[in-house]
Amino acid sequence: MNRITFLTFTFILGMLGIVSGLGQPTLALEYQPTYPYPGAPVLLKDLPQGVQRIHFLGRDFAVFDLAGHRIALLAVPLSSKPGLYPITLEGVRLPTLKLRVYPKKYPEEHLTVPERMVCYSPRVLARIKREIKLIKTTVSGFTPEVYLDGPFVWPLKGRLSSPFGLRRLFNGEPRSPHSGIDLAAPVGTPVKAANRGRVVLVGDFYLPGKTLIIDHGVGIYTIYAHLSRFRVKKGQIVARGQVIALSGCTGRATGPHLHFGCYVRGIKIDPQALLRLLGAR
Ligand code: ZN
Repeated sequence: MNRITFLTFTFILGMLGIVSGLGQPTLALEYQPTYPYPGAPVLLKDLPQGVQRIHFLGRDFAVFDLAGHRIALLAVPLSSKPGLYPITLEGVRLPTLKLRVYPKKYPEEHLTVPERMVCYSPRVLARIKREIKLIKTTVSGFTPEVYLDGPFVWPLKGRLSSPFGLRRLFNGEPRSPHSGIDLAAPVGTPVKAANRGRVVLVGDFYLPGKTLIIDHGVGIYTIYAHLSRFRVKKGQIVARGQVIALSGCTGRATGPHLHFGCYVRGIKIDPQALLRLLGAR
């Protein structure tokens, strides 16, 4: 019987590999970006047939076909500490690979605002908590179907006015890090769907204002906030690049902009990094 004994695994930047007893690599997995960091999406490319799921940092990630490649899109939570983390390929008998997560320092912004701007009445606070929970639950869903259709596109062209992961402190009190990016745009700018998907949430909320969420399938979601008008309805399938709304300044916004966020299995990832990995060239 011919059996390959997996003795060790190699770790090469951008490539995860398993080396057999003869020193021949039997599996080489390409991944991007070269230096994964907290808040980064990680793309595993050309996965071997038979791999059903990827287990990474306590979550299961789907394996699917996109543009002729068998891929998985993993997400490193912002709260992860740098270090080596196992990647388990489920469905095949292979040893666990390990991926190194590198440190990343996100910018900080200290703001001094009137107390009433950061202090909400119990009624408003209850509403905010309810709405945040609804949004979190929505982006943590999982639809096995792949709605994605080719590379991602930008929802609009606008100056990046606030980056992902920005740590904001109001009057010295830390808030949760920026969950997406802000793109400055005049009120009424058409907002496009970043990819094909199903509209799963359309609502008017206290902090993000008029908000729309698209489910792209396999646990991938995009969110669009502070909109002025909706152009699609809940339940509708939208095409990649289809105008879904007009940008605005609704909710708690300091100026007209689109807040654009991406989630994979409920983990917020940097939309710019996602567009670099899976964006239109
Ligand atoms: Zn924002």
